[in-house]
Amino acid sequence: MNILVINCGSSSLKFQLIDSMSEKCIAKGNCERIGIDGSFITYAPAGGEKEKTVIEIPNHKEGIRLVLEALTNDKSGVVKDLSEIGAVGHRVVHGGEKFSDATLINDEVIKAIEECNDLAPLHNPANLIGIDACKSLMPNTPMVAVFDTAFHQTMPEEAYMYGLPYEYYQKYKIRRYGFHGTSHSYVSKRAAEVLGVDYSELKTIVCHLGNGASVSAVKNGVCVDTSMGMTPLEGLIMGTRSGDIDPAIVEFVANKENKNVSEMLNILNKKSGVYGLSNNLSSDFRDIEDGYLAGDEHAVRAMKTFCYRVAKYIGAFVAAMNGVDVICFTAGVGENGPIIRNIICEYLGYLGIELDQELNNKRGLDLVVTTTDSKTKVMVIPTNEELAIARATLKLVK
Ligand code: AMP
Repeated sequence: MNILVINCGSSSLKFQLIDSMSEKCIAKGNCERIGIDGSFITYAPAGGEKEKTVIEIPNHKEGIRLVLEALTNDKSGVVKDLSEIGAVGHRVVHGGEKFSDATLINDEVIKAIEECNDLAPLHNPANLIGIDACKSLMPNTPMVAVFDTAFHQTMPEEAYMYGLPYEYYQKYKIRRYGFHGTSHSYVSKRAAEVLGVDYSELKTIVCHLGNGASVSAVKNGVCVDTSMGMTPLEGLIMGTRSGDIDPAIVEFVANKENKNVSEMLNILNKKSGVYGLSNNLSSDFRDIEDGYLAGDEHAVRAMKTFCYRVAKYIGAFVAAMNGVDVICFTAGVGENGPIIRNIICEYLGYLGIELDQELNNKRGLDLVVTTTDSKTKVMVIPTNEELAIARATLKLVK
């Protein structure tokens, strides 16, 4: 069965068509700048040329229409008509406490996702627009929602509660939810598979280090803690997000700089992280890495602080699980940054970790990058959230 995976943002829409038998991507692309001047769609059939078409995309429905047109057109399309698309899997960012697994989409589910909008005001409404657009263009195709938060729903109360008045949890469901769950789930399972070990017997720490970054602790096949919180702002230092800070800083800076709460949150989300720390050098880790190697003081500061925070979370999660068998690195930085992995692992001597430098410099494979003597294994596992969404979709529509 061909499964269309849709990841809708507020002004963008990423898609992949995946053949569930071979688990290969047949075609992929994105619509960007939806509803903004200069919108365009890119489309690439597997093994073919990438096409970019600048075209007005006033809304997500038009974006989805263009995607379906690209997939079915005579020239570079990959299916004859829409009947060859068996199901659609939608990435949905926040499922709150309602969803601990992927679910078939019906009116009740849409209402429940809407009720989580409060918790992810930037993401969930966009995800719902994508679902609505697909429903109207493919009314008879089954659709599945796969939640970023679902994998983390197994966390125990002591991991997900904040030290706040309990009534805020009762009234507003303020608690840690965690994100990147599809990636943490995929990577931790893949690690067990590659090692040939039973997933339910492994203690794994997954470091998803991309523009957004989070760490999770997966013990005996279930997530027991994660670094992101009620929103993706908590935890690691990220491309532009601050991660953990003393909450009192918000009022202090707001008073000094004459800013309100939403302006402060904008700074914490968009102007902080390695971008802010590097004195606005860049939010892109490639630039930070280049600057670090050239000895640029701002890049060195950003790099060291980023890596230190990751190492600190690893230590916390070793404590949470009373040990660790394997530490996995994934996502843009985790997969491609041997220097970053080196700096982080330098803090982890107490786990008996010894990186094999030759293996650590390889790219793109599911690899153990520690020596055979290393007491704890370190792995690099390229994440594949689209495939994980396609698998979850297939499971439900079968
Ligand atoms: P993601 O959010 O997973 O797409 O990751 C995006 C981040 O990965 C960006 O900050 C990129 O700079 C970073 N990245 C991609 N390739 C490399 C690389 N070769 N070395 C270091 N960082 C990289």
